[in-house]
Amino acid sequence: MIERTDCKCMTLPLDYGIRILLPGGDRLNTDVTAGDVELFGCSMCGMKWLRHYDEWPAFSESGRWHLAPVTDAELAQLHSTKDVLEFLHSRPWHFYGGSYFRTAGALAERKE
Ligand SMILES: [Zn+2]
Repeated sequence: MIERTDCKCMTLPLDYGIRILLPGGDRLNTDVTAGDVELFGCSMCGMKWLRHYDEWPAFSESGRWHLAPVTDAELAQLHSTKDVLEFLHSRPWHFYGGSYFRTAGALAERKE
């Protein structure tokens, strides 16, 4: 697992000044009904971050995102939007937020 560091990219809210959109996330958008996948890189420490965003337009307060750091080896194992969702939810910790959760961003840690 990737430990949390003291880099600024480990601190919410999402800072697009230090998170740079990387190519590579597009290939994981295999299901247009299941939201968008984006891959970011930290301009300070080089950490890669995988983000999934989903919103149901027919419902208010349905926006939700999940975000976690990802290694190149882990990224190579992911082939679809579904893989990304399973990956994000199986992390020991990840960030999440959006109108659905009524938070601009919070830390989720899996209880052992
Ligand atoms: Zn960083």
